[in-house]
Amino acid sequence: MKSALWQLADLLFPSRCALCGTADHAASDSGNAYCPDCIEKLTPEPLNRCRRCAAEIGPFATSDKGCAHCRTRTLRFKSVVCLGMYDGSLRKALLAAKWSFSAVRMRSLGALLSIKRSADLIDTSFDRIVPIPQHWRQRLVRNFNPAWIIADELASRFKITCDVHVLKRTSRTRPQKRVSVRQRFENQAGTIAVSHPPTVKGQRILIVDDVLTTGATCSEAARVLKAAGAKSCAVAVLARVLDHSA
Ligand SMILES: [Zn+2]
Ligand SMILES: [Zn+2]
Repeated sequence: MKSALWQLADLLFPSRCALCGTADHAASDSGNAYCPDCIEKLTPEPLNRCRRCAAEIGPFATSDKGCAHCRTRTLRFKSVVCLGMYDGSLRKALLAAKWSFSAVRMRSLGALLSIKRSADLIDTSFDRIVPIPQHWRQRLVRNFNPAWIIADELASRFKITCDVHVLKRTSRTRPQKRVSVRQRFENQAGTIAVSHPPTVKGQRILIVDDVLTTGATCSEAARVLKAAGAKSCAVAVLARVLDHSA
């Protein structure tokens, strides 16, 4: 019910910024749910990031072989592009979009990712966009998958095919909080499958999710996609969550 009400509010008050509430920010013209001031806060100039996992690294650090946050992890994707780190305004906007089940807000964040990080995304070069799937039981409870919405937005901006059904969840993962990084990777093994391997054969895939923490989920997706014949896999997410447990 809350979902429907929020979506109705988005439709009725499109000119009110979804983050600060400022009215008449010409959202109806830009189509974005956030005002220009909030967009600035949501998309600060990118700092030096690790190419492999998108974590912020020192200004002169290189990340050819990863950074302190990812060096010890086996990641099956080659790179990560993100809008920003999971803190401040981006964290607030992302949580609000998620908990209000607002497709308009999630789509707006996806649009910011595609516009503000377009150079990095183009550099990634991909032929096909594949979002991280939810388990069917999750879909049944709330028909809202942020990854699908963000992937669909990127696909329409880059005019690239988005396949929302290429990957499927084969089992539900146990809650990922309060488990070690190693366990998170082990929990993900075998939870994702490729439903139609010929679609990904020889393709360069952009895997899309809302956030990336340890990288375990996206790495498992990349593993099964490559096993099905994908040429390469890269990742795009709204936010990079720094995980300090390893
Ligand atoms: Zn605002
Ligand atoms: Zn890294």
